[in-house]
Amino acid sequence: MSPSGWPSRGKRPVVGFIGLGRMGAPMAANVARAGFELVVFDVRGEATVPLVAQGARVAESAPGLAATVDVLITMLPGPAQVEAVMLGVNCAFQALRERAVWIDMSTSTPAAGRIAAEDGAPRGVAVIDAPVAGMVKGATAGTLQVFAGGDAADVKRVLPVLHAMGDPERVVHVGPRGAGYAVKLCLNLLWFIHAHAAAEVLVLGAKAGVEVGTLRRALAAGPASSALLERDIDGVFEGDYDESFTLDLVTKDLGLAVDLGRELGVPLELSGLVEQLYRRARALYGDRAGELSTVRMVEEAAGIKLRLGPPPR
Ligand code: NAD
Repeated sequence: MSPSGWPSRGKRPVVGFIGLGRMGAPMAANVARAGFELVVFDVRGEATVPLVAQGARVAESAPGLAATVDVLITMLPGPAQVEAVMLGVNCAFQALRERAVWIDMSTSTPAAGRIAAEDGAPRGVAVIDAPVAGMVKGATAGTLQVFAGGDAADVKRVLPVLHAMGDPERVVHVGPRGAGYAVKLCLNLLWFIHAHAAAEVLVLGAKAGVEVGTLRRALAAGPASSALLERDIDGVFEGDYDESFTLDLVTKDLGLAVDLGRELGVPLELSGLVEQLYRRARALYGDRAGELSTVRMVEEAAGIKLRLGPPPR
């Protein structure tokens, strides 16, 4: 074993990346840009092409990838895919070598990591959850917020890799394994509650005859402001409900948050209602509709569009 302790014996870890979607592709590109040797895999073969142009090697399967890397990152839709890839029939986790690290950066739940950590302990394989916030824009710029859950020494070992994808000031060790998933689910739950609440308030004010830009400025300057009012509502004013994050993933996240409350015996009445509102938007507009489509739902119910300028006469 090398002094650094990586199975490949190199000074810097060889990084494997599985899940090259809207988030995973730019994140993996930043890992390559930071000078790490990179191996990639996705069920959609075409997703690997731009990374090959950046010097990445393509693995033929998830376990094939796992067998050659020091740090394996997954960025998959949710728990079902994470479990299938890491613990399913062709189990990638089993293929990881002694002292390798698996980092799941998907928004998911601790179950698969718990099983893997028990299984990996005799081989010294570490398991970390490190979900992210910051959208495709942050993934592309390498400025993501990262919430790492796991053993402090394990998180420290992989910090250079996490810093390649996130803003080092906001790559935070938030607690033991599972804590990263919990922080991320709390963040998304609050964000989507805020988003829907702001939509109702803006539509109410607009219907009462207040110009939307004026209303937004007044609310954003007051004690009830939110990131949505300060920043993200701009797209909606142009009819863009933000398809960089889609309702299939939103309802997945809200479902996981409400399930966590159920598991822990925490009553989440408002959260349950908000989850159903996003499920209704998904039924109306489809899986791939943008995350702010509940704003559209409120607009349509009131017969008004949130657009800047005086309301049409
Ligand atoms: P996505 O659907 O764009 O990408 C998922 C990728 O995983 C796809 O390329 C798909 O082909 C691949 N995949 C699915 N099953 C696979 C398998 N069995 N083996 C190999 N590859 C497989 O999703 P995304 O928007 O990139 O989100 C990924 C994760 O990040 C999700 O957990 C999401 O909740 C979270 N997230 C997304 C955003 C965002 O703005 N999109 C922001 C923060 C966190």
